[in-house]
Amino acid sequence: MATSQTLLCRQILLPEGWASDVVLTISGEGLIAAIEPNAVIESSLVEAAGPVVPALANLHSHAFQRAMAGLAELAGTTDDSFWTWRDAMYRLVGRMSPDDIEAVATKLYSELLKGGFGHVIEFHYLHHAAGGRRYASGEETSRRILHAAQAAGIGLTHLPVFYAHAGFGGTEPGEGQRPFIHDVDQFLALLQALKPDCEVAGATLGLAIHSLRAATPDEMRTILAAEETGGPIHIHVAEQQREVEDCIAWSGRRPAEFLLDEMPVDDRWCAIHATHMTADETRRLARSGAVTGLCPATEANLGDGIFPATDFAGFGGRFGIGTDSHVATTVAEELRLLEYGQRLRDRRRNRLASGPGASVGRTLFDAALAGGGQAAGMRSSGIRVGARADLVVLNGNNPFIGAASGDQILGRWLFALGAEAVRDVMAAGQWVVREGRHRNEEAIDNAFREVLLKLA
Ligand SMILES: [Zn+2]
Repeated sequence: MATSQTLLCRQILLPEGWASDVVLTISGEGLIAAIEPNAVIESSLVEAAGPVVPALANLHSHAFQRAMAGLAELAGTTDDSFWTWRDAMYRLVGRMSPDDIEAVATKLYSELLKGGFGHVIEFHYLHHAAGGRRYASGEETSRRILHAAQAAGIGLTHLPVFYAHAGFGGTEPGEGQRPFIHDVDQFLALLQALKPDCEVAGATLGLAIHSLRAATPDEMRTILAAEETGGPIHIHVAEQQREVEDCIAWSGRRPAEFLLDEMPVDDRWCAIHATHMTADETRRLARSGAVTGLCPATEANLGDGIFPATDFAGFGGRFGIGTDSHVATTVAEELRLLEYGQRLRDRRRNRLASGPGASVGRTLFDAALAGGGQAAGMRSSGIRVGARADLVVLNGNNPFIGAASGDQILGRWLFALGAEAVRDVMAAGQWVVREGRHRNEEAIDNAFREVLLKLA
């Protein structure tokens, strides 16, 4: 059994606020065993090389999409949109083997750690080979995700995705969607089969419904009644204006409205994007207790729109951040873009601060920490006794960080520096990033490069 370790933190962000000269004890199982403020400092203690903050949970990832990040920025002949991007994504999917998926996911997860995340929620819908051809095992690609998370050393909440239709009302899936498709019984069998794998891997198992387009209400109800994961339930909703129009044409109701009317949305749920909502939908989603999963860099990249975050926060809504298609992979870029979208819309500054004089960075960070933890199905989040030791050490040698104290540290990191401020990252008690490099960086990069060359 691994032995426990201690870490002296000169500045650390605890649930009750910033504290000085704290000694953390981390158990051999990777949990925080003790938090000792104002400790007697012995010279033998290992000292963190800068301020320590909790690593966030990234609440929305489609890992394989990292392989195409940056390559869809070419103007087409028509109005480029989410839907033309989706066609490019379908072409990629048809060419990736399980080995490729694992190499890309391992690379992505190592990048997320370097970006300040300690945990990822994988919304996993790439279940089969091109044209829908089945692998020998139905769990093949899920197992590759579990392996990737273990190889990178990131915590994982695995959400196999139910996806059955091309559009509202149960329409037949298109050719490009065949690798995603299950019927209800096959999907429930997949969840059952993955239980022991997730237990062995230390991952949390939940489930996702791709969207109201991809599942009928009856299918959703059957799955919800039969599933036994006990884990989180995620769904994409109201990402695109066309989705809103199609939903109204089909049901007479808007997507968020339909979801809240027809499904038992509560604190087990996470609504991904929820970009296009009326004031009433915004209030209802906020009051449901569900988390909203915001992916500001992807939402900007795909031209989705701007989430009504100020109204949602005003109603007490819970949110976290994800990197979705992975055009960005850092905590700083997502939180900054979330705030800047609100500023650009309102032509005002400091939109998401918790009150007068409050730090925007701190408000965003606290919200994303709690929302990400809830969406991941964690019992608690933040640096607490009994929680997983998921820590980010910001670079105290960087003058911006070294000269800052308290919430200024978050302001410098999130709004002025970005990932360069992240020095060391611990996940489940293991140092997986040291001085900005992942512990297996070279091997991970080599495998990833091979995949990109093959797909090129
Ligand atoms: Zn997504």
